[in-house]
Amino acid sequence: MAGRMYSAEMSVATLELDAFAHLNAAQRSAVEHDDSPLLVIAGAGSGKTGTLAARVARLVRDGADPQRLLLLTFSRRAAHEMSRRAGLLMQQALGVPASARPPALPWAGTFHAIGARLLRDMAPALGLAPGFTVLDRPDSEDLMAQARADLGQAELPRRFPQKATCLAIHSRAVNSDQPLAEVLQRAFPWCSPWEPELRRLFAAYATAKHRQAVLDYDDLLLAWATALEEPAVARALGARFDHVLVDEYQDTNRLQAAILSRLKPDGRGLTVVGDDAQSIYSFRAAEWRNILDFPARYAGTGVIALEQNYRSTPAILAASNALIAEAPERHAKTLWSAAPEGPRPRIVTVADEGAQAAWVADEVLQLREQGLKLMRQAVLFRTGTHAAALEMELTRRRIPFVKYGGLRFLESTHVKDLLSLLRWAQNPRHALAAQRCALLVPGLGPAGTRRLLAALDTPQDPVSAVRAWVPPPSARAEWPGLLALWSGLQSGEIAWPQAFDAALKWYEPQLQRLHEDAAVRMGDLRQLRQIAIGQASRERFLADLTIDPPQASSDEAGPPHRDEDYLILSTIHSAKGQEWSAVHVLNVVDGCMPADMATGNAAEIEEERRLLYVAMTRARRHLNLLAPQRFHVTQQARWGDRHLYAGLSRFLSPAVQACFDLEGGPAVADSAAALGLAPDSVDLAARLLKRWT
Ligand code: ATP
Ligand code: MG
Repeated sequence: MAGRMYSAEMSVATLELDAFAHLNAAQRSAVEHDDSPLLVIAGAGSGKTGTLAARVARLVRDGADPQRLLLLTFSRRAAHEMSRRAGLLMQQALGVPASARPPALPWAGTFHAIGARLLRDMAPALGLAPGFTVLDRPDSEDLMAQARADLGQAELPRRFPQKATCLAIHSRAVNSDQPLAEVLQRAFPWCSPWEPELRRLFAAYATAKHRQAVLDYDDLLLAWATALEEPAVARALGARFDHVLVDEYQDTNRLQAAILSRLKPDGRGLTVVGDDAQSIYSFRAAEWRNILDFPARYAGTGVIALEQNYRSTPAILAASNALIAEAPERHAKTLWSAAPEGPRPRIVTVADEGAQAAWVADEVLQLREQGLKLMRQAVLFRTGTHAAALEMELTRRRIPFVKYGGLRFLESTHVKDLLSLLRWAQNPRHALAAQRCALLVPGLGPAGTRRLLAALDTPQDPVSAVRAWVPPPSARAEWPGLLALWSGLQSGEIAWPQAFDAALKWYEPQLQRLHEDAAVRMGDLRQLRQIAIGQASRERFLADLTIDPPQASSDEAGPPHRDEDYLILSTIHSAKGQEWSAVHVLNVVDGCMPADMATGNAAEIEEERRLLYVAMTRARRHLNLLAPQRFHVTQQARWGDRHLYAGLSRFLSPAVQACFDLEGGPAVADSAAALGLAPDSVDLAARLLKRWT
């Protein structure tokens, strides 16, 4: 017996060497750290995420139950990646043969997704309907508008904020965990006079949500945090998880920090990792002080800094360090790289966005010629629309790509229609979903739909109310079809995922009738079906899709053809935590980085600097910053569409530029300059207007 124990120990010891051998000393100390609160604060590419995964594996090796580890990440994609990495390490550390499945981590996900699951589990205790559905942003706006109309605020004499603004104010107040008056004063000063009306509106909105058994996106955090205010709930949930580990802690907001401290009041079992220099979500109320204040909040916090960057070549790291060194306020970190030297990063000036698209396409192909797969290259940009010219160019040249960022797919009418059929079945009280479904029935108009909604709004059983409802004569022929589908879905008679096909079958003729481009839209729905059939239940499918409206459709759908090679297009925000061998950043010009609209105050400008830092630190070996001299601006409605003669981003100071090779530059003359004309030397619009005035 003793002999066996001995050999088991031996094999664990050697396997351990395999699983954790790659760690450096600082990473190892984070992995081996005991249960006291731990903060790993370190720069980009220093192995924070990898260290967190290794810590999970180490905890499991030492006996922690994977079911009792809560792992909070920034996106679902990040959660998958983290589980995968931790799984491999666990396999090695536990000596599980590679053919066997590594232990699963069922509680890895975003704050919102985990919140939804816990709330559903606790629903009976909290007076929540267990079948609650989650509203996406546009639906939340519509419900807000509805509440506003019900209060008669639509007819207020002075201009009241739009529904989207109301929701933004609501969201900011919730996520920043601050009083409404303060939020208004700070972020929406022009709405301050409306405080009493907004307060009434938000109360009505909360009531409407409760009546319909729906939660909005922010409720997933708010309801979770609020439930945790009750000591019994905090004790129960705190005891449910032995360890809570958080990646990208710099982008958490006050509500998320409150959730963590209510779960683990003394910080025992709490590990957070992050980089204050990469905080880019303050527009969603992220509080970058969270990370700096962590040690003060939890007595006895171990703080570990990681200083070796394993991602980038020294040349790219030098450029990134130079950029962030000019940020006035930051937690000083020095990063060094032992990677072999690579080509110097480049700043490339081009004439306009068309030239930029062509340059990037050429460069991408050239790197591929040199053996760098498309998949190992990424084009990053500030907002989804900035990639339009490039998307056209890539399509024209038949270069396959996948785009992350932007929600067009989930917000398109046909996708929302189909989801509404499933949502209404999931939650019969979901008025917006019911309304959307009813309006699809030929012969059923707004008046008939209003009557249906009124019938639904009953304290009695809404299911019998729908069954008993009598449609107007114009819809008598078609209503029964929807009713039969709804009943089948609602009762569970049609199982999942056949339920998706049943809904699609009913919807297809409506799609044909309502849209000229029905064939294209059917393609989207088939893509949605692929996602649906991979999900265990309707509830999970709907919740996941709404809660993590992930960075994008392609994020959901996965790559178009798994074995094919494709280029990555992504917003910088969605690129967080990732890396590619080659990174090309579009529109590194003033007006875009920083954005026109973000130049209001110093804090906003600093966030823009960090955004560029995040973009640059995604690159391993090749980094190109593109600067079109003429840049098309559409984001500022008050100026209309216009071209801007853009200068290089103000963040590329002479000291930063010194780390780059400059290409193009003043030598790239646009045609006006070639004629010897200065930008804007003639105000043609004013002259044309003068003819008539
Ligand atoms: P970010 O700040 O962008 O989130 P990060 O600090 O989380 O970055 P990781 O993504 O964990 O960094 O790691 C960056 C790269 O460095 C990865 O390719 C990883 O495999 C590699 N790496 C990390 N630690 C080591 C190590 N000790 N030895 C070799 N490679 C390492
Ligand atoms: Mg990371």
